Amino acid sequence: MELARLNEILRNNGIVGCGGAGFPSYAKLNKAADTVILNCAECEPLLKLHRQVMQKYAYEIMTALEEVAEALEAKDVIIAIKPSYASAVEAIKANLSSFKRIKIGFLPEVYPAGDEVVTIYETTGRVVPPGSIPIAVGCVVYNVETMLNIYRAIREEKPVMEKYVTVCGEVKNPVTLKVPIGVTFKELVDLAGGQTIPDPVYLSGGPMMGKLAHPTDVVTKTTSGVILLKPGSYVANSLTPHVKLQFARAKAVCCDCMMCSALCPRHLLGHPISPADFMNSGVSLKTDNVKPFLDTLYCCGCGVCEMYACNQGLNPRTLISVYKSGLRKNGVAMAGQVEVKPVTAQRPHRLVSKERLTARLGLSQYDGPAPLDETERKFANLKVMLGQHIGVPCAPGVAVGDRVTKGQLIAASPANALGVCLHAPADGTVTEVTDKYIMLRT
Ligand code: SF4
Ligand code: SF4
Repeated sequence: MELARLNEILRNNGIVGCGGAGFPSYAKLNKAADTVILNCAECEPLLKLHRQVMQKYAYEIMTALEEVAEALEAKDVIIAIKPSYASAVEAIKANLSSFKRIKIGFLPEVYPAGDEVVTIYETTGRVVPPGSIPIAVGCVVYNVETMLNIYRAIREEKPVMEKYVTVCGEVKNPVTLKVPIGVTFKELVDLAGGQTIPDPVYLSGGPMMGKLAHPTDVVTKTTSGVILLKPGSYVANSLTPHVKLQFARAKAVCCDCMMCSALCPRHLLGHPISPADFMNSGVSLKTDNVKPFLDTLYCCGCGVCEMYACNQGLNPRTLISVYKSGLRKNGVAMAGQVEVKPVTAQRPHRLVSKERLTARLGLSQYDGPAPLDETERKFANLKVMLGQHIGVPCAPGVAVGDRVTKGQLIAASPANALGVCLHAPADGTVTEVTDKYIMLRT
């Protein structure tokens, strides 16, 4: 397929990265790529969707992967996956003979193997320069569900209308559901048998990089998990930052042990971020050297420093993120040229085992199966958010009272801006239109 045609299909069918920030997938297509990587790392503890989707739809996903590689004229195609996802690996191997270009790249069982900078290093040995994107080293990375959406768009002409979400933690029956975009988190919890404790804390996404959520929040194209936690538990507490207190605690007890930098995944790849230097400079208000402050712009927010490394229970990630937002608000950008150190020789010994991380987070008890359930269900109302991706949000193209059919275009980003189209996830009637969402009664 011609690259321009693929570009158009991805944009028109609303395809964005299915985890993280929702970067429009068409905008990653670039002929400078010689390698396409399918990211099946799924390194956040408890989430179980990608490996199961990969297992069930290996052929479809590999078909789309091959199509993308052909359009880009990329010579290498790597499925990055952990050996422990044995059933998914088996499904890939069973189809490999049909796809000559595709090979498997095994990832270590560590967090954050799915950070694309880490995934690229582990599978190709290339280091994405600090502040840069994968194409700088000739790579394009898509995750499993995104690639399945690409398949559905190319081969079945279906836009993105549904999402796979793992629902686990304090629920009766952990499960990985396929649901229409716009259902509430509470409806997902009900489908998982209901909550097991009163007043659980809702988390959207994984325990390391997820966000505090509410039962009335709704599924978007980037929702990968809904996890219910006990109030007061380690992860639940980490979701509500108390910046002043955290700063005061850092001043009192940071012992400059450097452990946070020693385990920082970006630091280990030679990137300039050093959480220990930031903490040291920040707590002692050393402003004669601004480097540790400016280097916060190279933090990816993975959370290893505060959720795993710091033996004093301090919060480098949170403080860095507050500082980083301040820099951005004031128009401070990354330096054009930065000093990049070689990958640390100690790196292999400093990787964070996912199993140990899960235990450290106090989540091992929830780390069981969350089987895939693709039953088609009807929900009374669907709230379709207009800003589900990075770039310019969609502008509504329907009005209250309009009848829409499943898959119909209901909103779109401006044609000349970074953005995608948005489609009705079910047949229904539009009951409300705001600048944030479109409500459908089905
Ligand atoms: S969150 Fe911490 S460990 Fe992760 S990149 Fe930022 S400084 Fe490094
Ligand atoms: S690991 Fe904790 S105590 Fe050690 S330098 Fe980092 S923030 Fe300070």
